[in-house]
Amino acid sequence: MSFQVFGLPVSRGVAIGRAVLVASSRVDVAHYFIDDSQVGPEIERLRVARDAVANELSTLQRDLPSDAPGELSALLDVHLMLLHDETLITATKQWIQERHYNAEWALSAQLEVIARQFDDMEDDYLRERKADLEQVVERLLRAMSRGPSSTYAPAPGVSPRDFAGEDPLVLVANDIAPADMLQFKRSIFTGFITDVGGRTSHTAIVARSMDIPAVVGAREASHIIRQDDWVVIDGDNGIVVVDPSPLLLEEYRFRQRQSGLERDRLSRLRHTPAVTLDGERVELQANIELPNDAPAALEAGAVGVGLFRSEFLFMNRGGDLPGEDEQFEAYRAAVEAMKGLPVTIRTVDIGADKPLDRMSSAELRHEHALNPALGLRAIRWSLSEPGMFRQQLRAILRASALGKVRILIPMVAHLAEVRLAFEAIARAKQQLADSGRAHGIVEVGAMIEVPAAAIALPTLMRHFDFVSIGTNDLIQYTLAIDRADEAVAHLYDPWHPAVLQLVAQTISYARSTDKAVSVCGEMAGDPAFTELLLAMGLRSFSMHPSQIAAVKQRVLRADTRRLTPHLRALLESEDAEAACRELFARPVHAEAPIGLS
Ligand code: PEP
Ligand code: MG
Repeated sequence: MSFQVFGLPVSRGVAIGRAVLVASSRVDVAHYFIDDSQVGPEIERLRVARDAVANELSTLQRDLPSDAPGELSALLDVHLMLLHDETLITATKQWIQERHYNAEWALSAQLEVIARQFDDMEDDYLRERKADLEQVVERLLRAMSRGPSSTYAPAPGVSPRDFAGEDPLVLVANDIAPADMLQFKRSIFTGFITDVGGRTSHTAIVARSMDIPAVVGAREASHIIRQDDWVVIDGDNGIVVVDPSPLLLEEYRFRQRQSGLERDRLSRLRHTPAVTLDGERVELQANIELPNDAPAALEAGAVGVGLFRSEFLFMNRGGDLPGEDEQFEAYRAAVEAMKGLPVTIRTVDIGADKPLDRMSSAELRHEHALNPALGLRAIRWSLSEPGMFRQQLRAILRASALGKVRILIPMVAHLAEVRLAFEAIARAKQQLADSGRAHGIVEVGAMIEVPAAAIALPTLMRHFDFVSIGTNDLIQYTLAIDRADEAVAHLYDPWHPAVLQLVAQTISYARSTDKAVSVCGEMAGDPAFTELLLAMGLRSFSMHPSQIAAVKQRVLRADTRRLTPHLRALLESEDAEAACRELFARPVHAEAPIGLS
């Protein structure tokens, strides 16, 4: 029977496909597709893990003290029985063989299936065995993480389309780690649904960068939706329709075709320069996560990379970090792909919801950091790892010999940090000079994403060549709203007067000092803000390549002489969103929800 689940619309468009569930587990699990050659080795990893756990359990049982309660031994018997149960192992192998999931993913997918069967049982005793099954699977997952690791590294361009059958697939999960999103970026999912997350959580950002529909913060979605259910993701309205009726499906297919046509129409603006009606030139740059995003940026008409989120190079590596040469190659690839256009490389923004690797994620979130968003992240983390920081700086500096490269420091708040960062840059340059390596002239900029930086801009600005406003974090820190927490997502408000004031002030002050200023947060790529930002004096925007055409269309229709006189009233307005909509007469959402009237 058809039903709907509601969440936050974070990436536009409609996706229709069969649900692929990524189960959440107490042990962090990597999720990726494998190719044919890896099916055998993955099944072997599963077998090795099962033998190891069987040994573990038998040893535990053998070594039980003689006065141990009899239930303990009976419990271990149950665990051993579950471990050897064919429903677990045979079906897990099937996920590996037929769906080409890696072993951990296959195991957690099968756990989900069996757990649901337990949930449906009438008998209390049997229903409670679900916890035992979870413990056994947890042991298996831990054994796999200790045992031979997967040798498989998905190569760029490898697509699991061949394994997935004919139907399009959408991903449903409690949460998707940024590292997993990176894997999925190369895969075939046509949409994402998560239980948790906010509009600017990194799941949402990566989904937008892939330009595929996504709904986050959909609460119970991963529990209600079942493997292989047909679902529609309405990314414009934050609605997920499960098992849609044929009529509804037809309506959504129609909308899908319409948005495809709209995209084609907008893509014709690709090579049109972004100039307002009154002749103001506007720079539309791209945000990228990996060097191989750069061709798409060029293709979309970006005039440079305004934000290269370098931390994505540090993910999916099991804790091992990329060295100087490897980083240099990545930066070089981006610089070369941009064919002479500027590339702004942000030094790693690790921490908060972008942990270094899976194990450190758990540690970072739950064991060490009381509040990760306010903890050791971004420049704070880099300064706490001086060797690694200089390594990254040397790699960036070396790439600057090959094209126009700028360094961007994330989450600047204290002058002491600024001084230390510049000392590190000076030392990195010196080390390069000492070893006879070249570097170019590099401008250094600050991300303005902490209110302290926006307020103390006159003091900070002296040290920097440019600033880039990270509105995602600026909103989070100004309003004290965790950007990844769906429980407070309704309060995460880019239109809040305090946020708009800080953005306007930063742009105005930077312009008064003749230093370059841009916005690289999600606000820059949302056409609802284009006129307002232009009225504030912004002439440089950086966004996902897929958003460039829609923003360009707004720029081409704007006349800054008509916009600027409205600025004061908009900043003082109690509802700037409604005021902007009225003044600039355009709908915020292109499409109304289907079947909800
Ligand atoms: C921001 O905070 O606006 C930003 C661009 O950085 P990130 O989203 O990567 O934190
Ligand atoms: Mg940020």
